[in-house]
Amino acid sequence: MKLLLFDIDGTLVKPIGSGREHIEYVLGKLCGKPISTEGVAFSGRTDPQILEETLLLAGFGPKQVSNLLPVALAHYADHATYASNEVHPSDGVRALLEHLRNIETVQLALLTGNVRVTAYRKLSAARMDHLFPFGAFGCDHADRNRLPAIAAARALEYCGKAFPGHEIVIIGDSVHDITCGLDIGALSVAVATGYTSYQDLRSANPDVLLRDLTDIDLFCNQTGINDRAGTKKNSYTTGNLCDQTVH
Ligand SMILES: [Mg+2]
Repeated sequence: MKLLLFDIDGTLVKPIGSGREHIEYVLGKLCGKPISTEGVAFSGRTDPQILEETLLLAGFGPKQVSNLLPVALAHYADHATYASNEVHPSDGVRALLEHLRNIETVQLALLTGNVRVTAYRKLSAARMDHLFPFGAFGCDHADRNRLPAIAAARALEYCGKAFPGHEIVIIGDSVHDITCGLDIGALSVAVATGYTSYQDLRSANPDVLLRDLTDIDLFCNQTGINDRAGTKKNSYTTGNLCDQTVH
């Protein structure tokens, strides 16, 4: 049995340009002055981290920031909505998920820095929300490294089965997606469909490195997923693959 934990931005869906606008609008309204996210890295970070850094760069002190943060997160969750023409599945994702959802030994779930309501809004806009019954989110913990254990606990609750680290696969487009599962011994699958370059992902030494998620057989082969009949797939292909090393 495999628990597949998918990141959203840059992984399940193509990067959405309006994230910065939403945060700048919400924080500007809350603080009563223009707030810029310039210089704040978004990729692989949790929403609380992004909001905190933005407020610190805007000149607020640590104590003010810790007071503002819960309100800012709530306003952000209320404000950030996404139209269906704004959120597009990454190449190959829809077909891959359709395949994976029919495999009895696979459980799909989320691991994302988005707060929960924003995560499901984005997926709903891309008509993929129904595929992910649970996950771990930026509202669970600001530190992404804490999210895999939270997701595993929810998987135990949902499936009635514990998932040890070697049965957990974390799929994401940033270096933070690669490193967050190290403590629990999860398999990391880095995919170069977001803001982080293929070379930079390779430098972070993921277990599997893919250009994109268009090759279903390759994905299943590299993550050790068997099909519904329990037959191991051996159809190794090199179509979209560059380096893939399973440690
Ligand atoms: Mg991402």
